[in-house]
Amino acid sequence: MRIVPISLPTPFYIGPVNVYLIAEDPITLIDTGPKTKEAIEALREGMRQARLRVSDIRRIVLTHAHEDHCGLARSLRDEAKDAEVLVHNWETGHRIGRLEYAEHRTLLVRAGVPPSEIDAMRKMYEGVRQYADSFEDGEYGELRDEAELEFASGALRILHTPGHTPGSCSFVREADRTVIAGDCVLKRITPNPVLSADPVDPSKRFASLAEYLVSLARLRSFAPTLVHGGHGAPVHDFEELFNRYIRAIQERQREVINLIPKDGATAFDVAQQMFPGADDVHRFLAVSEAVAHLDLAHSERKLSLEIAEGKEVYRPLSAS
Ligand SMILES: [Zn+2]
Ligand SMILES: [Zn+2]
Repeated sequence: MRIVPISLPTPFYIGPVNVYLIAEDPITLIDTGPKTKEAIEALREGMRQARLRVSDIRRIVLTHAHEDHCGLARSLRDEAKDAEVLVHNWETGHRIGRLEYAEHRTLLVRAGVPPSEIDAMRKMYEGVRQYADSFEDGEYGELRDEAELEFASGALRILHTPGHTPGSCSFVREADRTVIAGDCVLKRITPNPVLSADPVDPSKRFASLAEYLVSLARLRSFAPTLVHGGHGAPVHDFEELFNRYIRAIQERQREVINLIPKDGATAFDVAQQMFPGADDVHRFLAVSEAVAHLDLAHSERKLSLEIAEGKEVYRPLSAS
């Protein structure tokens, strides 16, 4: 089974996105790139080099439903005459450009984000969603943990690896322990555990960082020899990267705990201190990152948490 990485340009700060063509029956594309002219042209060229065309695609598999990964899914499906589209069922919050704004607003208010800031984040999101088409319910099939995507000469095992988003999935070729991991594993940066509603109970927040740590450990249990991420170069030494991630997460947790004064702070207060002057999409990602680390510290009983005037306030345990 041949895995062909194709790099596509995106209009986002993160830079190009990697999609993966499995050039074997049924012809499968893992992730699609954003809905831009530049991305579709680069994809056509990449497929041409593999002696294939977009119309040959039979199956479109999404690691997660961020616009840079899923944006072209619908156009490609239509051009390929109803290729099957598969995504994990927990990818509801972001499902293909259909972020539930009311749920997000509730989460942001609880994190202490002021209304003016929420409006700015919303405008930013509206700018981003133009890069993906939305899908109706029933237009895609479900990726199930531990099921297999079968090919003429092998299979990819589906692993549900939540963290970056609730429905993020990775794909393992066990024969040589190669993994396609989307944004779960990125060579140069620690993936941001994006603030999301819990797909099972949307009134709650998804424990993104705690889930992410479990996903990383699960990937590690396969002792990957090669990991293809959603951005940047492939990872040959997963063990080194795993240890680096764990250290970075621990360091960030210490930093976050040190930012909490005796009389308490919200996630928004912490984000402002961690990332002063963050603009554009980074305002939201900064709050995401702060919430993720504060939640983990609270679940590990390193901080206390109480609700005051509709906002969650974290305090050092010694002061509570
Ligand atoms: Zn992503
Ligand atoms: Zn990405």
